[in-house]
Amino acid sequence: MASDTEAEAGASGVPGASAPLVTLTLAEMRFEDGTPVLGALELSLRPGETLAITGPSGVGKSTLLRILAGLETRFTGTLQVPDRMAMVFQEPTLLPWRTARDNIRLTTGLSAKAAQEALDEVGLADHAGQYPTQMSLGQQRRLSLARAFGSAPDVLLLDEPFVSLDPELAEEMMVLFARLRAARGLATVLVTHVETEAKMLASRIVTLSGSPARLGAERQNKGAYFQLSASGVTSSKS
Ligand code: ADP
Ligand code: MG
Repeated sequence: MASDTEAEAGASGVPGASAPLVTLTLAEMRFEDGTPVLGALELSLRPGETLAITGPSGVGKSTLLRILAGLETRFTGTLQVPDRMAMVFQEPTLLPWRTARDNIRLTTGLSAKAAQEALDEVGLADHAGQYPTQMSLGQQRRLSLARAFGSAPDVLLLDEPFVSLDPELAEEMMVLFARLRAARGLATVLVTHVETEAKMLASRIVTLSGSPARLGAERQNKGAYFQLSASGVTSSKS
C-alpha cells in the first residue's frame, strides 16, 4: 500500500502527529454493472482516534471500508494510507485447517510465545490448539481481533465486529476491543449499522446514506467507552 511522509510522521507520534494517517477523497465508486454505490465524499483518520461509520444495511459501508483497506480499486479519487493496516471482516476469515495459534502466527509472524500472549489477552488462553470450526462465533471473533492487533498495525479497520452476537457477548467484546485499543492508542475505523455501538466506542461518528451514498455531517462523540484506560475497564452504563 502507498505510504506518504505525513502518514509516517503521524504514526510515529512525534512532530506532525496530528497529521491524518488516512485520507480519502472519493469522487465516485461504481460496480462493473455501472451502478454507482458511493458518491463524492471525504474522510480522514488521525492518530489515536476511532471513527465510526454508521448507516443502514446495503448502503455501502463495507464497500467504503474495502476501499480504505486497498481491497477495492474500482473507484475514482485519491487515497493515502499507512503501510501497516489490519482489517477484521464481518465474517471471521480464519484458516480452517490451522489452529488458533497458527492463525495468529501465519499472518503476523509472531513467535509461538507472543501468539500465546495475544490469545491470553482476548481470553482464549486455553484455545491455542483448537481449530476455528471447534470455536463459537464469539471465540472466532476474538481470534480475528487478536490476529489483527497482533500484526501491530498503524490503522485498524473493523467491519461489523459485534454483529450476530447476543447482547451480553457483544458488550463483552466491545469492552475487550476498547481495552486493546487503549493499550496501543490505535487509530480505528469502525463500521457498524448499530448506532449505540458507535456511541459507545467512537470519538467521531459519520453516517452514510442515500444512493449513491454520501457521508452526512460529522459528530463528535463523548461516549461511555472510548476513553477507557488500558487498566481500568469501567462501564459508565447504568
Ligand atoms: P453495507 O456494508 O452498508 O451493508 P455494502 O457495501 O456491502 O453495504 O453494499 C452496498 C451495495 O452494493 C449493496 O446494495 C450491495 O448489494 C451492492 N453490491 C455489493 N457488492 C457488489 C458487487 N460486487 N456488484 C454489484 N453490487 C454490489
Ligand atoms: Mg457490510
